[in-house]
Amino acid sequence: MFVVALTGGIGSGKSEAAKQFANIGIPVVDLDVIAHELTAIGAPMLSDIVRIFGQEFLAETGALNRAKLREHVFNQPNERLKLQALIHPAIHANALKLLQDHEDGLHPPYQILVVPLLFENNHYDDVINKILVIDCDETLQIQRTMARSKMTEAQVKAVMSAQVTRATRLALADEIIKNNGSVSELHENISLIHKKFIKTCIVSQ
Ligand code: ATP
Repeated sequence: MFVVALTGGIGSGKSEAAKQFANIGIPVVDLDVIAHELTAIGAPMLSDIVRIFGQEFLAETGALNRAKLREHVFNQPNERLKLQALIHPAIHANALKLLQDHEDGLHPPYQILVVPLLFENNHYDDVINKILVIDCDETLQIQRTMARSKMTEAQVKAVMSAQVTRATRLALADEIIKNNGSVSELHENISLIHKKFIKTCIVSQ
């Protein structure tokens, strides 16, 4: 199994990049997607969250109020640890299972594992062969996140300052894709790096 971890700061373009890898036939496992599935309406973990954190984290629809929970744990390390202890082991187990299922069923040349906070809390060292960082200028990162998430500039900056610095991320990357241009430029760069990964995994087999 050859696994490329895809990471980057908030709003850098990880999801857009992952979509393009999927479009060209590379299996993608995204930890955020798994976290959403595990805490969807009817999922046992949603009941655990309500039991531990309280009924007020449910929206009227019965769905998890993710923004409220994110806000709650953001400045409270103890609460954050409680949440992480609850959900991270399940996310980890699901991610490994999905990677193995793809490997067994699809025999892909490599797979993409989207790990938004790879450098902040890495539990995936043992499965990752390469690290790809999606990077863009911080002003763009802020603009794009504000447009997508209806967050204020201050909120985006607060999240950014809780993440590793851009310089650290770039220093730890094996490969970097700059996402300062258009979405189609990003897609072209993904196609180019795809060819490079194919060569790399052939050599390493
Ligand atoms: P998060 O860390 O918050 O999950 P992300 O890194 O997955 O974010 P995306 O959701 O892919 O980032 O991108 C953030 C926003 O910017 C989205 O609305 C996306 O459509 C847009 N976007 C991404 N790349 C570009 C680009 N090259 N040009 C214009 N908009 C872009």
